[in-house]
Amino acid sequence: MPVRIEMLPVYIAIGISAILAVSASLMRLLTVPAAIAAAVMLTAAAVFWGFTGMTLYLALFALSSLIGAVGGKRRKERVMRIHKRTGARKVVQVLANGLPALVMAAIWFFTGLVPFKVAAAASLAAGFADSVAGDVGVLSRGKTVSVLGFRRVERGMSGGITLAGSIATVLASALGAAIPAFFGEYGAALFGVGTLGAVAGCTLDSVLGASVQALYRCGECGRETERTECCGKPTELVRGFGFMDNDAVNFVAVTFAAVMGGAVAAMIIYIRL
Ligand SMILES: [Zn+2]
Repeated sequence: MPVRIEMLPVYIAIGISAILAVSASLMRLLTVPAAIAAAVMLTAAAVFWGFTGMTLYLALFALSSLIGAVGGKRRKERVMRIHKRTGARKVVQVLANGLPALVMAAIWFFTGLVPFKVAAAASLAAGFADSVAGDVGVLSRGKTVSVLGFRRVERGMSGGITLAGSIATVLASALGAAIPAFFGEYGAALFGVGTLGAVAGCTLDSVLGASVQALYRCGECGRETERTECCGKPTELVRGFGFMDNDAVNFVAVTFAAVMGGAVAAMIIYIRL
């Protein structure tokens, strides 16, 4: 039973959290409540999963922010019309992406059951891979098609996939799943399972994005958008459900990644497939 808190990573996480929360809100990467939520999650990850948890959260957050910033203005211009949020990440976004993994890490902490480590890694990797794929896809010159039916859709639209974005999804998923493996938390087989869990989560994200996620049309300019307002007027829901916004879809997708990663890991460990 690993119910013993390693204090060193917790102290380090508290220090880094404080620095990051302040700088991320000053750089407007995160709103103030989102920065506080991220700091609390990072510290909790260190409590439940020591250096591994801390590194997972830190590395994936830093990398996705970096990749997001590389695109910078160009991405902002292209996606502004479509996405609801282009500015600082809000608390709902941070929680939707980070909370399911934290719950998995907490269960690992209290039970010592290895599949929950795989579930936590798969879930975080999925959120990371999804954001990286989106950034890469928006910046790539390749065409964007819907994951359902492969008809061409506007760049940056939810449910749209690109070749470059799909490759990025697999690589980013593998990177996320590799971090705990690097710390010796699990071996090659479970690294593979974690990667697949994350890819499954990203795939579900796209499928939901192309089906039940709220899509609106602007009565003024005629454009399809994920925003509830365009050209200064409320838009009209043309597909999906109003409550299924991008954050809800992300939450479902990263939870699915955790369930898939954890379930397949359990089968391999306990049934010895
Ligand atoms: Zn409009």
